[in-house]
Amino acid sequence: MTIRSLLVANRGEIAVRIIKAAQALGIRTVQVHSAADADMLAVKLADEAIDIGPPAAKKSYLNIDAVIGAAKSARVDAIHPGYGFLSENADFADAVEAAGIIFVGPRADAIRLLGDKVAAREVAKRAGVPTVPGSDGRVSGIGAAREIADKTGFPIMIKAAAGGGGRGIRIANDMAELESQYPLASAEALAAFGDGGLYLEKVIARARHVEVQILGDGENVVHCYERECSPQRRRQKVWEEAQAFLLPDSVRQELCASAVALAREVKYRGAGTVEYLYDDETQEFYFIEVNTRIQVEHPVTEMITGIDLVQEMIRVAGGAKLSVDQRDIVPRGHAIECRINAEDVSRDFMPTPGRITRLNVPEGEGVRFDTMLYAGYSIPPFYDSLLGKLIVWAESRDACLDRLRKALQHLEIGGVPTTVSLHLALANDESVRRGAFHTRFLEGWLEAEFSRQSQSKSEVA
Ligand code: ADP
Ligand code: ADP
Ligand code: MG
Repeated sequence: MTIRSLLVANRGEIAVRIIKAAQALGIRTVQVHSAADADMLAVKLADEAIDIGPPAAKKSYLNIDAVIGAAKSARVDAIHPGYGFLSENADFADAVEAAGIIFVGPRADAIRLLGDKVAAREVAKRAGVPTVPGSDGRVSGIGAAREIADKTGFPIMIKAAAGGGGRGIRIANDMAELESQYPLASAEALAAFGDGGLYLEKVIARARHVEVQILGDGENVVHCYERECSPQRRRQKVWEEAQAFLLPDSVRQELCASAVALAREVKYRGAGTVEYLYDDETQEFYFIEVNTRIQVEHPVTEMITGIDLVQEMIRVAGGAKLSVDQRDIVPRGHAIECRINAEDVSRDFMPTPGRITRLNVPEGEGVRFDTMLYAGYSIPPFYDSLLGKLIVWAESRDACLDRLRKALQHLEIGGVPTTVSLHLALANDESVRRGAFHTRFLEGWLEAEFSRQSQSKSEVA
């Protein structure tokens, strides 16, 4: 069935992104919003807007009955869940289908299987994809955890089977820490995700985060090459690139093929990402998880492949076959994305909601700004601090960094502190220029940067 109308069950920049993709396909759009979001850009752009409840996400964006009620009253053909919120909730996908509406994403059983990080590890193993050494299945208790740690050694990660968004992960450096952290991790996972299940993974030190974009139509699966997302803070991505330019070509081929094999194992439909850790020294990669949705950093892949991933996921959800063949997907040039957050970098990244007094967006060849902002908009304090993403493309990585520096200098967001200053410093950094980073790089960099700044301040004093 061709999708003629689409409800966007999300907010912020991704809601805007989905509306634009739908409009390009000639699809009518319906935007749901909380009481705090009546003024958001996506509401202004959509053909219709429906208030689904109070500001608290639990009562609006996470309220399955409210979202489906709105979809029924607006008589839409399909629902796009974006990322976060209900996007990886299999019960939601089931409820949408039960209401006779198309869920833009994988089938509910695939979400359920891959969303459980322990079950996904098993799927990876079946598909012959290397996983991080650790537990087989969920750990039954502290006794079993001790035995596994004895075998794999320390440091070891305690991870929540239902975790996501960088949450539900702890590190134990020795047996005593494992014993004290384990019960806390379990209680925390139960409270945060409604599932106390845990698994263990050896810590892959100084690894890169490399991930593969996949697209499937339920029969065929293709990959759109890889992204490098190592610059992270508290296990959340800050800066992303496509491709991972230092990856040897033979490893790249193997990595991308492994992601396709995994997706084929579940006859994947829609857009998804297979995440890995990559060790430069041994040139080995290890599967960590699958995200069964569109990702924040999808634009860098769009910039190097020319594929509109959001349009493609809507088309496939409507029953179409993939519009691209693996042979057609030829990466070109290099792209970098900076996540622009309303946060005060100098105050431990404290969120800084408030009114946008001025907005100047860089334009030009190879420059894209995906955002929820407009001048005069007031950022509500209830949600994620992501305001937008600056994405820059050029023929080479060096040219891309040059273009990025200029674009960041032109990007003006007045009224609230943002992370633009951090990105400008990163874009000028020598290690970043060499691509010499790993998943703990940024945290070390920030520490060094701030101790340098406070030292020069005290010298001035
Ligand atoms: P990406 O790789 O797309 O950046 P993230 O893991 O950063 O993926 O998640 C994207 C969004 O979804 C973020 O807003 C994040 O906070 C949210 N998110 C992802 N998984 C969960 C989860 N299990 N619980 C709560 N929020 C989540
Ligand atoms: P989430 O579901 O929260 O995104 P992931 O399993 O994808 O969790 O891990 C998030 C980040 O945590 C990774 O990008 C990486 O930086 C770090 N990480 C996860 N597992 C390991 C590991 N076994 N060794 C080292 N770092 C890890
Ligand atoms: Mg992840």
